[in-house]
Amino acid sequence: MAATPKRKLSTGRQGRRRSQIKLGTPKMITCKKCGSLKRAHYICQKCKAD
Ligand SMILES: [Zn+2]
Repeated sequence: MAATPKRKLSTGRQGRRRSQIKLGTPKMITCKKCGSLKRAHYICQKCKAD
């Protein structure tokens, strides 16, 4: 049997834990082709390259 929590987590505690869950700031790099700011590992929205 798997380990199970003894009691139900109150919505307040659940909220406090989830308040730490958030997306970080996206990494931005300059496009090598047109020099505009683009998200790393994403295609450039301006010249559609990379
Ligand atoms: Zn570009």
